[in-house]
Amino acid sequence: MRILVQKFGGTSVATEERRAQVAAKVLGAVSENYAVVAVVSAMGRGGDPYATDTLIKLATDINKEMPARELDLLMSCGEVISGAVLAATLQSHGLRTALLTGGQAGIITNAEYGEARILRVDPQEILRELKAGCVVVVAGFQGVSEDGGVTTLGRGGSDTSAAALGVALSAEAVDIYTDVEGVMTADPRIVRDARILDVVTYNDIAHLAHEGAKVIHPRAVEIAMRQNIPLRVKSTFSDAPGTLVTNSQPDRAAGADMIGDRLITGIAHMPQVTQITVDISGDKDKPRVVRQIFKSMALAGISVDFISTQLDAVRYTVKDELAGKAAGVLQNMGITAKTLPGCAIISLVGGGITDAPGVMADVAEVLAERDIEILQSADSHTTIWVLVAGPRLTEAVQMLHNKFIQFN
Ligand code: ADP
Ligand code: ASP
Ligand code: MG
Repeated sequence: MRILVQKFGGTSVATEERRAQVAAKVLGAVSENYAVVAVVSAMGRGGDPYATDTLIKLATDINKEMPARELDLLMSCGEVISGAVLAATLQSHGLRTALLTGGQAGIITNAEYGEARILRVDPQEILRELKAGCVVVVAGFQGVSEDGGVTTLGRGGSDTSAAALGVALSAEAVDIYTDVEGVMTADPRIVRDARILDVVTYNDIAHLAHEGAKVIHPRAVEIAMRQNIPLRVKSTFSDAPGTLVTNSQPDRAAGADMIGDRLITGIAHMPQVTQITVDISGDKDKPRVVRQIFKSMALAGISVDFISTQLDAVRYTVKDELAGKAAGVLQNMGITAKTLPGCAIISLVGGGITDAPGVMADVAEVLAERDIEILQSADSHTTIWVLVAGPRLTEAVQMLHNKFIQFN
């Protein structure tokens, strides 16, 4: 049995017209003799009746502190509704379908409600339905914990469901259908001439996704990468070939371009972060203060990023929504901190950064041309990060894209 997993995102299943385009993709795969597993997201975006954000609001408007276990049960309904509507659509096109929740599809997770991790997948039920000739429609973004609680996999987690099912079923590929024609060199909402990458390594896309490129969930990439399952990011609304995500040894004979030779593959950004600066220049026992700061953040469950500890100051970032809590924790310890909300982290990602001299110099020059201040910077062998003020984000990403993304 040749199995293909097709995942359809929220915008792809938002309207009747779009669901007809989804059905065309499923019918296309069936006509190529694939046994198809269609994983769906909740329909539409916030404000649409059954979208995830709308469901969350239904409850949190009444009680902001809704228990995570109950919120997960509520959120999971969005994907179940979407699955039922897609199943009906496919049936109207003459297909036999089997609709399964994440739990029924065998996705077992831990009990970390809201951000559950998949422990294992038991694909027996899916295989049984596929063998019986059904297209299996699975509600994405959800699983079941070992004690029977319905869990969700973190925002954007239907990609994760699709990748995990692809691995468990040894699928030929996992196709992520969305509203853009593939993985692009930057978010097209910010850079109008961002271009589609024909092929990208698991590593580069995983880094881009971690740094805010919402086109695919980073966990989905990690899961597919472990078993080398090909991932393809494609548009539901066109026949463009999309982006193939593969390992670093592309099959040149199959027409893949020289992905290892790119300096910068893409640019991602993460808005709405607060820079926290603690002046430690006057402290005698600096290591103790540094330890205190990060221990207190950890104890308060505040995830910190972009850490830089120097002799005069400790700087780090937190999500804007946690800035007040972080400042309060520091204040309680008698530590005065300066907070700068509304910043953005820009990440330039590319395997080619390793050993390439002068990249940071070029970044600094491009931003200096427009008087865009670099509030902090850091680098690794595959990524350069810069922190800028939020209002300068779009301009900064556009300038960096012009400089570093080569068109051919
Ligand atoms: P879906 O609902 O299909 O999962 P998402 O909204 O999660 O769709 O992801 C698709 C969106 O990701 C695109 O509309 C695009 O604006 C955004 N995006 C951000 N960075 C990138 C990128 N590098 N390449 C393509 N799309 C990106
Ligand atoms: N519906 C979920 C969300 O909005 C999962 C997904 O779209 O992948 O986060
Ligand atoms: Mg998504």
